Amino acid sequence: MPDRKYDLVVIGAGIVGLASAMEILKRHPALRLAVLDKEEQIAQHQTGHNSGVIHSGIYYAPGSLKAKLCVSGKQKLIQFCQEHDIPYELCGKIIVATTEEELPRLQNIYERGLANGVPGVELIGPERIREIEPECEGIRAIWSPTTGIVDFGRVALAYADEVQARGGEILTGHEVFDIKQQDGVYNLETSRGVVASKYIVSCAGLYADRIAEMTGAPKYPKIVPFRGDYYVLRPEKRHLVRGLIYPVPDPRFPFLGVHFTRRMDGEVWLGPNAVLAFAREGYRRTDFNARDLLEAVTYRGFGLLAWRYWRMGLEEMYRDFSKVAFLAALKRYVPAIRAEDMLPGPSGVRAQALAPDGSLVDDFVFNRSGNALHVRNAPSPAATSSLAIGEVIAATAAKAFDLPTPVAH
Ligand SMILES: Cc1cc2nc3c(=O)[nH]c(=O)nc-3n(C[C@H](O)[C@H](O)[C@H](O)COP(=O)(O)OP(=O)(O)OC[C@H]3O[C@@H](n4cnc5c(N)ncnc54)[C@H](O)[C@@H]3O)c2cc1C
Repeated sequence: MPDRKYDLVVIGAGIVGLASAMEILKRHPALRLAVLDKEEQIAQHQTGHNSGVIHSGIYYAPGSLKAKLCVSGKQKLIQFCQEHDIPYELCGKIIVATTEEELPRLQNIYERGLANGVPGVELIGPERIREIEPECEGIRAIWSPTTGIVDFGRVALAYADEVQARGGEILTGHEVFDIKQQDGVYNLETSRGVVASKYIVSCAGLYADRIAEMTGAPKYPKIVPFRGDYYVLRPEKRHLVRGLIYPVPDPRFPFLGVHFTRRMDGEVWLGPNAVLAFAREGYRRTDFNARDLLEAVTYRGFGLLAWRYWRMGLEEMYRDFSKVAFLAALKRYVPAIRAEDMLPGPSGVRAQALAPDGSLVDDFVFNRSGNALHVRNAPSPAATSSLAIGEVIAATAAKAFDLPTPVAH
């Protein structure tokens, strides 16, 4: 016998699960809905370990879900922050080319920004770079004045309050171990008893593939965890960075490269790099989980990825251990920075979907199996896009599950 019964259960109280729950309840207020998370607090994984950048939508392939949902999600996020008194700042960002070889890629990103309708993007030269970031060197850059910063953990807390105000429950400390289906109902076996639900929306981040498999959905794409470490700029050196300074990213990878990020609390973070984590929630270099690692390295997709990019992978690992190499990457943009200015900082683990052919899945991926919807790939900029993603999930759930809407009077 289940301990609790719901119409719809969302698995994962990260920013995507909470946004989805909130949007579902807005449309279907009578629904008995619960959000389950294995941790005792919400937003303990990607949502609480990121750069805190409100992306403007420059980078993404025109027409992709990332492009559409980032541009619209950013507007919705800003409105939400205004309505809920959540501090944010549109401090602007520059994407800086330091060599001639990077110029065609910079141009390509600029054109994507225009095609995606990102407001105010401009190509600028060295003088303007210096006006915006006096300590930054570069031969050309993209200026994105509407990129901003926010504390996504705080945003997630506000979403959680909204979910509860709309009658939803948030059950923390409920790890989902297994899911069985019986008579059209899912029985979720959790660390605190069985939870029954007619419908599931899974937003499980680093465990998206495992939860999907529990409901009978295909096991691919698999999630591969990529850890990113940050250094923090010594407080006396914060004047070296005014806003956000980013490199020109390598188009073969979905990661944006080691950057300089001003935070809402005034800190400046340097990073993150991107190395394979030896555990899905492995925030330290020494964290290791045999199942996670074995699953990653025996996955055909991972073998193909490693074969293709072994040199780059080794370089990233070297930089992970060598502060000198990390510093060299930063000095390309801000030459005044010194090793003693870099203090050890936090880290985050990205849930990155990897296809069996070895390609890193670039776009957001949502799919359905039976009465379950799955968010299978929601890497950056999913925090920025969370409200737009929530709307897509809510609309898809309404249709797929034929959810009751309130009768208009
Ligand atoms: C280093 C880093 C930097 C980033 N920078 C940015 C940025 O600047 N801007 C931006 O927009 N995005 C950024 N991102 C991406 C962004 O953080 C994520 O896209 C977003 O947080 C994803 O949210 P989520 O809810 O899908 O996942 P998560 O926040 O990881 O939430 C998933 C939840 O599912 C729960 N869960 C998992 N398995 C189970 C289970 N079996 N039972 C119950 N609960 C379970 C977990 O405990 C977790 O709370 C960054 C990410 C990282 C890692």
